[in-house]
Amino acid sequence: MRTRKLKIQYTDQLEAINAATASVWCECLRLKETWDYAHGYRTGGRLDKSCELWMDKELSKSQPLHSQSIQEVRSRYFKNRKGFRELRKNGDKKAKPPYRGKTFQTTTWKKSAIRFVGKRKLRLSNGQGNEPLYVNLPKNFDVEYAIAHIAIVELVYDKGQYSLHFVYGVEKALKSDGEGVVGVDIGEIHPIVSHNGVDTLIFNGRYIRSLYRLRNKVIASFGKKIDRCKRHSKRWWHLVRRKWKRIRKIDNQIRDGLHKHTTEFVKLCESGYIGTIVIGDLTGIRDNIDYGKRVNQKLHQWAFGKVTQLISYKAKALGIKVEVIDEAYTSQTCPRCGNKHKPSNRNYKCKCGFSYHRDGVGAINIRQKYLGCLGDPVVAAMAPPVGIRLEVPRCSA
Ligand SMILES: [Zn+2]
Repeated sequence: MRTRKLKIQYTDQLEAINAATASVWCECLRLKETWDYAHGYRTGGRLDKSCELWMDKELSKSQPLHSQSIQEVRSRYFKNRKGFRELRKNGDKKAKPPYRGKTFQTTTWKKSAIRFVGKRKLRLSNGQGNEPLYVNLPKNFDVEYAIAHIAIVELVYDKGQYSLHFVYGVEKALKSDGEGVVGVDIGEIHPIVSHNGVDTLIFNGRYIRSLYRLRNKVIASFGKKIDRCKRHSKRWWHLVRRKWKRIRKIDNQIRDGLHKHTTEFVKLCESGYIGTIVIGDLTGIRDNIDYGKRVNQKLHQWAFGKVTQLISYKAKALGIKVEVIDEAYTSQTCPRCGNKHKPSNRNYKCKCGFSYHRDGVGAINIRQKYLGCLGDPVVAAMAPPVGIRLEVPRCSA
């Protein structure tokens, strides 16, 4: 699966569709209440299943949406419930079932509701008797590809901006000629550090870090101004909107930077006959990093996930396999002698005399771990890491 996003201009119709989807969600909540009242508030897989079927019949057809779009909301609601039950089972006592009404809900159109008409027009059906949604497609939109591969279209609202997400189903056989394995360490300083057994590449994260700092600065300075105004006053709204506009722009620049890095990285892998990319799993927080503020940490985690996701789908499109492995000990083990110790700064130094860029050591060890020989001495003398800079316009504050 891969997704292409297209921003679209705000219209009242978009607002109405979004609101309709949100009210389907609210209706699900209400219907579940009714069902629970009749069935004694028991929850469980089988009961949920029959409730689902009942709900499909009950969900009013009055919403101006395609029946499959309505069904999608219902199934989202039950997926949500399932997630909650799993959390409870795993001992999370604070987990709650979905209970809150929503003002914004993503609308989904399944394949049968999607048509391409004329040369550059998309028609999304909202059910019989309702106005369909027409969208003009930009020049660079590959209509033929879309017709062949489209799976679903989603209308997503994010921070004041509507966009359409085109989700394509892409399947490509894995290539056989790529034999190499490359280890990837997604660092907090550099977005990608890779090692293929011979060379270590460091994708310089300076530009993206500067954007993080700028983002924090914008939040702080607007926050101060916003705090001084009366809540929901005209000036308050004005400032809030301006703040999100700035942040959206910065987030886009960050995303764009991550896109450029990952595209370049995956291209290098392809030309280097790499068959497998191994990424260290960063879902846990790493030791010996002082993140400072929580905001920073959240942003970093977001970027970790984003980089992994981008590498995964870009690599898969080229037929390169992607594996995610637990990166425990990969930042501590010495590639030459196998001893473990925590590096204290950006440089990894071992008693045996081995010294190397810290994230480079991570990438070497992630590769070793995947190959099943973490701690075995790496024979070749390590070439010094090669830095790769992003070609970007100077970012103005
Ligand atoms: Zn050593």
